[in-house]
This record gives sequence, C-alpha cells and structure tokens, in this order.
Amino acid sequence: MSLYERVGNIHIHTLFSDGTASPTDVAAIAERVGLDYILITDHIAYPREFQGWHGHTLVLIGEEVHAPASPHLNHFLAFNAGEDVARYGDQPQRLIDAVRARGGLGFIAHPYERSGAFVSEPEINWVAWDADGYTGLEIWNYMSEFKAHVTTLPRALLYAFFPQLAITGPFPETLAKWDQLQHTRRIVGIGGSDAHATIYHLGPLARRVFSYQHLFRSVNTHLLVSSPWTGDASQDAQLVYQALAAGRAFVAYGGLAPARGFSFTAECDGATYTMGDEFSIHSEAIFRARVPARAHLRLIHNGACVAEATGTELIHRSSAPGFYRIEALRHYAFRERGWVYSNPIYVISAR
Ligand SMILES: [Zn+2]
Ligand SMILES: [Zn+2]
Repeated sequence: MSLYERVGNIHIHTLFSDGTASPTDVAAIAERVGLDYILITDHIAYPREFQGWHGHTLVLIGEEVHAPASPHLNHFLAFNAGEDVARYGDQPQRLIDAVRARGGLGFIAHPYERSGAFVSEPEINWVAWDADGYTGLEIWNYMSEFKAHVTTLPRALLYAFFPQLAITGPFPETLAKWDQLQHTRRIVGIGGSDAHATIYHLGPLARRVFSYQHLFRSVNTHLLVSSPWTGDASQDAQLVYQALAAGRAFVAYGGLAPARGFSFTAECDGATYTMGDEFSIHSEAIFRARVPARAHLRLIHNGACVAEATGTELIHRSSAPGFYRIEALRHYAFRERGWVYSNPIYVISAR
C-alpha cells in the first residue's frame, strides 16, 4: 500500500470558544503556513458548517468536551462524531462510549499538566483513568508544555520572545503513561497545539503568546494516509480519520527542524511494516528509522530504550515481540530537545 504524508495541526480553538480568530481566518493562516489539514476543537461547540476544503487545507471540526460541573478536569477531544457530544460530558465513560458509538475517535487531551507559577491558569489533568475505549492520548500539548516552563517573570519574557528555548519535549510522565497503557492495548499518540492565540500580560508587556501562525509551525501531527486527496471533503476526512485510528502517525516539533520525510519501518519475511502496523514474528525483523536532519535517535521497545544512534538513520535487529517506537532529539541552545515521536509498530509472537 502506498502511503502519503499529510502534515496537520490538531487541537485548535477559535471564536466559537476561547480562541481569537474565526475558523475561516484560522484556515487561511493554516493554508499560508502550508498545512495539509487542521482539526478544530472548540470547547463545547461544534461548528460543523466550517468543515471542508479551504484552499489547499482540509478543515475538520471536532470538539473538546468536559463535564460542565468540573471544567478543570478530564478534557476530551472528540473527532468525527458527526454531532455535538457535549451533553455526554458529565461522565468520561459515557462520553467515550458516545463518541465510539457514532463511529468517532476520542483522545485524552493534555493528560498531565504542570502550570508554571507565573501563569495564573489552573492545571487541567485527566483523572478518569478507569475509563477505557478511547483511541489515544495527546502525548505532546504545545501550550501545556510552554506554560509549565513559565515560572518567573524573566523567564516569561525570555520565552515569549524565544519560545524555542522553553520547549524541551513531551512530559516524561505522559510518555511513561503512554508506554504503560500500550502493555494492555493499542493507544494512538497525537500532538496538539491547544492554539488559542491568547494575549498574555507579562508585566509591562502584552504579547500574543502565540499567534496561530507560530503554533502551526510548532507541534504537528504527521499522518500517513492511504491514498492521494480526492478533492471530496468527506472522503478526504475519512482518509485522515483512518490514519489517526490506525496510528499511522508521528508527532514532530517544527521549531527544531522540518520533519517531513521521517520514516520508521520494520522488515520481516520480505514484508515492510510501518507505524500502526502489526505483524507476527517468525524470524528476525530489521527496524529502521530515518530522519531528514541529524538527530539522536532512540528505539523504545516495551517502554525501554534498546538502541540508540546519532545521525540520520538507526538500524536494529530484533526478534522480540512487543511494541517499538522511535524518539528523535536534537541539540539546540545547550541541551537536547524532543523533535520527533513516532507511533509504535506492534510485533506479536508467532507462537
Ligand atoms: Zn483542554
Ligand atoms: Zn484546548
């Protein structure tokens, strides 16, 4: 099967909730930045009339839902539910089930937040870990990470003007939880920007931290879709949702380097598999990751790093079942920072 890489931004707020631009204006910005798709998720709002092709960018409408009584807990991203599902928001399991029953996909938003002391915003964590049936997790939420690092006024000022200094990668506790959950079943990882383009007041300065334009060049979710765009918005939406459901995806931070062209495959018995694929292993498999710029590559098997390489390629042979994923880090301003996070390839025992 030929696969086509589509780069898009997920988890965007507009004027339909607490964002600062209309869906049409947000779509125009995404097109200028060169995004193939965007997924708008306003709080408790589902303006589906904006779904469709806006120039060269496919605009999809989802929704971010929480319980009305506890707005600072359990934020959930519902995609492709076909209707407003906010009325199920009072119970996470009901909400997850309602999205699934409608053929939709559901992702836990910013599962762990760490709001820095300087940002007077509450931490919004997922606490309903007993609930199940969701598609996956937002493994990297750009604005959550940014807020966590803003602990003092000087830092706030520095990071507002040089955001690449603040961004280091997904929270380790989120990656650890993702790996832990993968031991029970497949959990798809996505990246979100949580784009609001809100203006923050930093002492004497008011600065829009950050513009939609900036956010659309930051944490994106790259998908491998199974056919070229058809031009029909509903068919093309299904290509996006199928790739998301299958985990044919990786998350990348464009602030370090462009990540288009990243690949992670496993070759076994003459067949080649990629992210989201599953195969049973009879003999040795060759795992291969390639990145479009020099990086520190780490192969994670069942949650532990089993191979590392520095450069543009990592090759590793293994016959052990389990789930394999790649992390790529790059050096910038005195430290290593997270750049690319793949979804796993799943290997099952032939016996
Ligand atoms: Zn949220
Ligand atoms: Zn949000």
